[in-house]
Amino acid sequence: MTVSVPSFVNVGERTNVTGSARFRKLITEGDYAEAVSVARQQVENGAQIIDVNMDEGLLDSVEAMTRFLRMIAGEPDVARVPVMVDSSKWDVIEAGLQNTQGKAIVNSISLKEGEKQFREQAGKCLAYGAAVVVMAFDETGQADTAARKFEICDRAYKILVDEIGFPPEDIIFDPNIFAVATGIEEHNNYAVDFIEATRRIRENLPGCHVSGGLSNISFSFRGNETVRRAMHSVFLFHAIKAGMDMGIVNAGQLDIYDDIEPELRELVEDVILNRRDDGTDRLLEAAERYRGQASGPAKVRDLKWREAPVNDRIRHALVHGINEFIVEDTEEARQACERPLHVIEGPLMDGMNVVGDLFGDGRMFLPQVVKSARVMKQAVAHLIPYMEAEKARTGDQRKSNGKIVMATVKGDVHDIGKNIVGVVLQCNGYDVIDLGVMVSCEKILQTAREEGADIIGLSGLITPSLDEMVFVASEMERLKVDIPLMIGGATTSPAHTAVKIDPAISVAPVIHVLDASRAVGVVSKLLSDQRDSYAQSVKDDLARIRERRLAARSAKARLPLERAREKAWDCDWNACSLPAPAKPGLTVLKPSLSELVDYIDWTPFFFTWELKGSYPAIFEDPKRGEAARALFADAQAMLARMVDEALLEPRAVVGFWPANRDGDDAVLYTDDTRREELARFYGLRQQAAKDNDRPHVCQFDFLAPAGHADWIGGFAVTAGDNPDLMARFEAAKDDYNSILFKALSDRLAEAAAEWLHERVRREYWGYAPDEAFSNRELIAEAYAGIRPAAGYPSQPDHSEKRTLFTLLNAAETTGIDLTDSFAMTPASSVSGLYLSHPDSHYFAVGRILPDQVEDYARRKGWTVAEAERCLAPILDYVTGSQTAA
Ligand code: SAH
Repeated sequence: MTVSVPSFVNVGERTNVTGSARFRKLITEGDYAEAVSVARQQVENGAQIIDVNMDEGLLDSVEAMTRFLRMIAGEPDVARVPVMVDSSKWDVIEAGLQNTQGKAIVNSISLKEGEKQFREQAGKCLAYGAAVVVMAFDETGQADTAARKFEICDRAYKILVDEIGFPPEDIIFDPNIFAVATGIEEHNNYAVDFIEATRRIRENLPGCHVSGGLSNISFSFRGNETVRRAMHSVFLFHAIKAGMDMGIVNAGQLDIYDDIEPELRELVEDVILNRRDDGTDRLLEAAERYRGQASGPAKVRDLKWREAPVNDRIRHALVHGINEFIVEDTEEARQACERPLHVIEGPLMDGMNVVGDLFGDGRMFLPQVVKSARVMKQAVAHLIPYMEAEKARTGDQRKSNGKIVMATVKGDVHDIGKNIVGVVLQCNGYDVIDLGVMVSCEKILQTAREEGADIIGLSGLITPSLDEMVFVASEMERLKVDIPLMIGGATTSPAHTAVKIDPAISVAPVIHVLDASRAVGVVSKLLSDQRDSYAQSVKDDLARIRERRLAARSAKARLPLERAREKAWDCDWNACSLPAPAKPGLTVLKPSLSELVDYIDWTPFFFTWELKGSYPAIFEDPKRGEAARALFADAQAMLARMVDEALLEPRAVVGFWPANRDGDDAVLYTDDTRREELARFYGLRQQAAKDNDRPHVCQFDFLAPAGHADWIGGFAVTAGDNPDLMARFEAAKDDYNSILFKALSDRLAEAAAEWLHERVRREYWGYAPDEAFSNRELIAEAYAGIRPAAGYPSQPDHSEKRTLFTLLNAAETTGIDLTDSFAMTPASSVSGLYLSHPDSHYFAVGRILPDQVEDYARRKGWTVAEAERCLAPILDYVTGSQTAA
């Protein structure tokens, strides 16, 4: 009698430049001997196949694959196991096939690009005698359900076996392992789907194998090794029983199913097998205990509230932001009410009033309010068809508290803040007509008139938008549009509103509202009986701010430009080593989302949601801690989804050019002979008088003057965007996830800038090859060199981005464009220069005098008026050049 033990083949995953930072470093640095030892270790740890991946932007992947495979062929310990040639590029795969002895495995082919290409590639694999991994991917995308996974594999199998004559035992299906326990309900069944698909594949497609990349399954528990390992073991235990016979795993790190602590094993099993609705919450909660340090956001879910009367349930759902049952509860309430409108005016408004009060008292925070608003909107969406039907019968309409037309002004694309304000207003009973981004003045005013708006709200992030807001105000004045104007956005300020916007308009009040949490108060006062006295008090405040500004500017001494230049920062350039870049010219990169995640600076993320405090200390904050933890858990789940489903495609370009300082400018040369000028960046110098010997800095002081072989770098990165997904969130009335997604996209763009800068220092410029900083140290800028960005304090002139983008050919290399106001699109983008001098540092130019405006205009070939317009934010606000004299 024979006992059949399901056999399982471990595929070693460490010889992968995208999956292992160590291996990547060895390969990019050319340390192939050490790289081979990585392969050897894996075999020693039990890997029966090794997966080799050289897909990395900087590498000549064909060359790296060839070289590495030839080297391991000469290592008897390693050469005894087959190689899985892993690449998304066909030429790399072919290079791999040409350099393996014995049978190789191609990882992977799929129906992604259609049957023609699939047949072609499969045919070549057959000719090489290679086995293939076939991903469950077709023309419409990656399969997620068991049915789709099986359907695609079945189709691939028929083509391979029946049409091409591929030996079935050389086919390895990879039906996609996706992360579970992400907090997103649709993901809960992913493990079950995989296991079920595996069973069907093995039952119906004779001879073939099933494999998968194991680490994905536990992605949402990154950082918690105990839980991850338990998840891997439990998943494998069930998947192997169903017929999975191969897997990309870290062989040295698998626990034995029976050795897992029983409580943990049960919790994990609930999640893997999707056995109970609260499985994720329960595991999240327990996970913190296994990690041994408390920061876990999750609470055990208590569903007692479901037993309360329907109105109480609706209030509970609103206050706690739970949208799971809201449609059924709303429907129940509708049936109990005489009219659908009564549901809104009754339990829904009651609940929102509680939310409003808690928010007003500082006991609820923005992310929670936005979640409550989602519940409200989904309830209202359910009622609307009934109300329309009723309206058709009775002509009755719902009355609103007021109507607000909002827009991000022309030339600007940033809308997170505006969207948050819109949601907060909507959940306070205001109708918000959101015109989106890059909205012309004409469109804003026309809509406001047609819709009979009670208030117009303008938003913008970058400084050129300030000017556009002044223009909208002056147009309102000219056209006598007497609708109160609300101003918001990161660079807006009480001062700018007082000095520039308010004087432009007399027909209506202008109010600056920076915090979303204040918007409701302002709007309700503007629309109340005391509207006039409130408007008057706002006007008085603005007048006072104006006066104070005037007084302040005359008090501040500034040096004329020539004097400031004499006090420039300088050093002994002969004593400096000026590193030449290891890789001059342009390099285009596509960072993967997963490698960017570790570079995220979370503090600004909480700031976006008006949860001010630094990460991770904010989790311990007695007031905001709970909201912050819940928000962070949602962010992690969304991030896992973004990574797993590749919801964004980040891109980056970096370039280096020979350059020298020329006065306050940087001159870039076409080549290292430094004879022909290629381009020029213009700098601005601090003029505010200092009471000590500190230098009056200009950005390019940190660049060596002519006669020294210095270099400058430039970069642009984008996280990308996903308009389809945004449209889906909008259709689902899900502002919360929409804002969350955008806020994370911004974080990923900054993370990409950090990631790229590190690689620049270590590899592309290469002046700090051995640098190794933690995320915290990177955020604190512990490294040598800076990446000053146009539009930021050391160079407030956004138009410098045009020069940079031309040099980088950014539109083509990264898909990033500039608007008329030099905002970057996609909005989640970052660009800047690189300076390498170890003493270089960020600074603020501060306010400048007319002599510098004139000088700058002359250098750039502009009129003084053009320069004034562009530099408006750093001129004294009063009236530009005359008064600053
Ligand atoms: N870690 C932060 C960085 C934000 S600052 C985050 O993740 O949000 C964004 C960028 O502005 C920096 O990467 C740097 O390129 C640039 N920057 C910061 N201060 C600057 C200054 N004073 N002048 C010019 N650029 C600056």
